[in-house]
Amino acid sequence: MLLRHTHTDIKERKALTVNPAKTCQPIGAMYAALGIHGCLPHSHGSQGCCAYHRSTLTRHYREPVMAATSSFTEGSSVFGGQANLIQAIDNIFTTYDPDIIAVHTTCLSETIGDDVQQISDKAGKDGKIPDGKFVIHASTPSYVGSHVTGFSNMTKAMVMQFARSSGTPNGKYNIIPGFVEPSDMTEIKRVVRAMGIDPILFPDTSNVLNGPQTGRYKMFPDGGVTREELESAGDSAGTIALGPLASADAARALDTSLKVPCQIQDLPIGLSATDRFIDSLRKAAGVSVPDSITRERGQLLDIITDMHQYFYGRKVALAGDPDHLIPLVEFLVSLDMIPVHIVTGTPGKNFEKRILEITRDLPCKVNVKVGGDMFLLHQWIKNEPVDLLIANTYGKYMARDDDIPFVRYGFPILDRVGHSYFPTVCYTGGIRLLEKILDAILERLDRDAPEEKFELVL
Ligand code: SF4
Repeated sequence: MLLRHTHTDIKERKALTVNPAKTCQPIGAMYAALGIHGCLPHSHGSQGCCAYHRSTLTRHYREPVMAATSSFTEGSSVFGGQANLIQAIDNIFTTYDPDIIAVHTTCLSETIGDDVQQISDKAGKDGKIPDGKFVIHASTPSYVGSHVTGFSNMTKAMVMQFARSSGTPNGKYNIIPGFVEPSDMTEIKRVVRAMGIDPILFPDTSNVLNGPQTGRYKMFPDGGVTREELESAGDSAGTIALGPLASADAARALDTSLKVPCQIQDLPIGLSATDRFIDSLRKAAGVSVPDSITRERGQLLDIITDMHQYFYGRKVALAGDPDHLIPLVEFLVSLDMIPVHIVTGTPGKNFEKRILEITRDLPCKVNVKVGGDMFLLHQWIKNEPVDLLIANTYGKYMARDDDIPFVRYGFPILDRVGHSYFPTVCYTGGIRLLEKILDAILERLDRDAPEEKFELVL
């Protein structure tokens, strides 16, 4: 939808969302389930929900995303979906032979009140779950929360279902990476290993949703955390949960049930948040930061100092997920940029407070809204224009309408590639983020420069 008719007169809206800055809970649950090796996500609801969720993930990752559905009809909507789910479990294990089926609910099955635990217990008693195979489930009604909540609920479900304490420490650390790209998960594992820590990372969609083209289709790709690793998570020395909304629930559940101590941290986006992540890894491993990581930090710092003049004083509008936006806004402020308009559609208690803390020394008022939408963001932009917009693909309409340099960031990105392959977390990811921001800003400077100021060297 082109937005040139968005008006500047902002009215308080309580019961109307226009162009939400979030998507469905089950999409996050489906994404998390794909991060378990040999797992088939299953949508307990109508075919329409499943088709929408699969197609959004397929378009973002440009990989064929597989998921099954209970295919509710009018009958199941009235009498409940038990028969459909039991039949589906039987069909899936017989036909596709996954190791694990991860069931998530939808608005419809939640409204009916289907008890998925009871249904999967019955499927087990009826002999529909073969030996050595598993059905896990998460409750993901889309009329509360967002895709981030769904990711969190499924991540908690996988750890609660599988983690055990054998009494023998495994010498590892659990890392919960949050709702980030497969490339980010690879990068987080690389950095954790470089710090001398052996990680169990869950979920892990690297090599699942960014695998190579081999000419051969694999329904269950090589990547993903294994069931054995999830079981062993109960014997780890600790858990680092990256992103309070997407990862904290699973980490706290593991802490409470199996006494695996947890730390909740921001995603390592930008310099300061990565410093905090590295520092906690350093303490956990009892080692000094290796030269390779110090060098990467120095490279990021080098770009910041080299290009500071192009960041300084530029106003930015952002839409996205809270776990991304908090460290991202902190990073922009550290570059002397001015994030002025910030919205997220994902509900959460501390978001506005954290953003206002991070931006408290900026020389202007900052607009921030939790439960906001893209329409409100556009109205803010029309009232106070910005030099840069950072948002998912849906931001392109605002960028076009108001001729704003635009960096695609977050979920979903439906019209560009690269996000699955190149990380934006940790120090090297920070370099890529800066490259994207600078490309957008410098392209605009070049485009608008009068001939006498059109410089070869910037
Ligand atoms: S909002 Fe609910 S009904 Fe609509 S696609 Fe999402 S889960 Fe399905």
